[in-house]
Amino acid sequence: MKKLKVNADACIGCGLCVNMAPEAFTLNDEGKSEAIAEIEDGAADEVIASCPVGAIEE
Ligand code: SF4
Repeated sequence: MKKLKVNADACIGCGLCVNMAPEAFTLNDEGKSEAIAEIEDGAADEVIASCPVGAIEE
């Protein structure tokens, strides 16, 4: 398990990470994703690779 970080300057609020891992990400009031909980390592790798703008970091 690991806690990821979202670069709010890069995030475009597409919601993909929230759909992929709703337990670990939420969209905040500004429409940006925030990491709210730890995520399993394999799922973390997938969501990092899937973000269209590379905004998710370990
Ligand atoms: S997938 Fe990337 S751009 Fe889309 S909401 Fe998540 S962090 Fe933001």
